[in-house]
Amino acid sequence: MSAEHVLDRALGAYLGFACGDALGATVEFMTPEQIQRRYGVHQDITGGGWLGLEAGQVTDDTQMSLAVGQAIIDNQGWNIRAVADNFVAWLESDPPDVGNTCRRGIMRYRENGELSGPSRVDEAGNGACMRNLPVVLSTLNRPDYFSEWSLQQSQITHNNPLSNAATLTLGRIASHLINGRDMDACIQETGRLISQYSEFAYSPYSGKASGYIVDTVQTVLHYFFCSDSFESCLIATVNQGGDADTTGALAGMLAGAKYGVQQIPGRWLKQLDPQIATQIRKQTPELIRLAGLR
Ligand code: MN
Ligand code: MN
Repeated sequence: MSAEHVLDRALGAYLGFACGDALGATVEFMTPEQIQRRYGVHQDITGGGWLGLEAGQVTDDTQMSLAVGQAIIDNQGWNIRAVADNFVAWLESDPPDVGNTCRRGIMRYRENGELSGPSRVDEAGNGACMRNLPVVLSTLNRPDYFSEWSLQQSQITHNNPLSNAATLTLGRIASHLINGRDMDACIQETGRLISQYSEFAYSPYSGKASGYIVDTVQTVLHYFFCSDSFESCLIATVNQGGDADTTGALAGMLAGAKYGVQQIPGRWLKQLDPQIATQIRKQTPELIRLAGLR
């Protein structure tokens, strides 16, 4: 796998993630029936939704990922306090959307410097899993660092075994794809996850797409494995509604890693907030370079 191919897939994953966020946010919290009545098939980045976004605007999923990525780049490696400090700065920037569990964890860090709280069953949301791509990119050849950094950044806000398992599995799948490994390697990862936590089994697909990490992972894996292009994967995912910006983002991460940046529809890339696209194009090679440095 040449360095150029790795960059193409890594950029596909990061830009694909942001496109999925921007596309899905329009239909977040809607049911598939409501989406169908209102849009037919939702397939363009138009903004709106319950957050009243501009077309191309992204939400917490992409913003928190950029916060993680910038902390890694600014420190030329891992510094968990820098990650937490960037989360605080992000929270104080009055973002369009903040999940309750993320808010609680960031406030806890801001108040007393704690980098994790006690394990809680109600912290099985998708807020930690959704922001882990920069860790994947900066640890492409270091699975040991990948696990350690992923769990540390997750547990600033989410201390839950299902969240941990999902974050590691989706990250490993993205890493395999960016490194040019085949779908068998990805299916093996999902098999490992399901043998450990059978609730993640995604076939037959239940149709639930909430922010509960189990529903999120089932939705993303179902549509990723049953689609054959970047575009069809994202459209099918977000039209399932529910936590559509996050399922869209994570599906975009996997599909972008598989198909590469060239396969992201031009109309989506054109619509994506240019400031966000610029940050992603800047962070991606820097994160990959760090992966190679060690
Ligand atoms: Mn969001
Ligand atoms: Mn969401």
